Amino acid sequence: METRLQLRSDAQQEAYRQKRVEAFAERCRAEGLAVTPQRRAIIEALLSSASHPRAEEVYEIVRELHPNISLATVHRTLETLCRIGEAQKVTPLHTSARYDGNVEPHQHLVCVECHRILDVEVPGLQEQLSDINKAKDFKLLGVSVEFHGICKDCRP
Ligand SMILES: [Zn+2]
Ligand SMILES: [Zn+2]
Repeated sequence: METRLQLRSDAQQEAYRQKRVEAFAERCRAEGLAVTPQRRAIIEALLSSASHPRAEEVYEIVRELHPNISLATVHRTLETLCRIGEAQKVTPLHTSARYDGNVEPHQHLVCVECHRILDVEVPGLQEQLSDINKAKDFKLLGVSVEFHGICKDCRP
């Protein structure tokens, strides 16, 4: 495999976040869900964090704006976002679920020490996956690619 892994830039992430916040309300309406201020705060917290946060971390961010929100509501809302395709769950190394506001096709670098998760894109991977779909023997429903290693902060 060629190692031309590309980390996403801050500018790319910011443009993506704006696009997704705009699309979010429309998706909720299409799914018959009320666009409550709490739901909006949760998706914004998720999209503004590139760290694939746990529900508890999303809760800490949202609580600053909505002190009465409960952790249970955050858990439930994150699961709802996953169900309607506005987020996805990442569960590296069998720890508690981590949530990802980036629902475009991408892969993850996972540090086995600190469990940091970084988004990467493997060039050509999407094309290869569509070849698998064309082969007809197997209908591809989803793909999850994790590269396990040690991040620069954890390397001795
Ligand atoms: Zn690390
Ligand atoms: Zn990701």
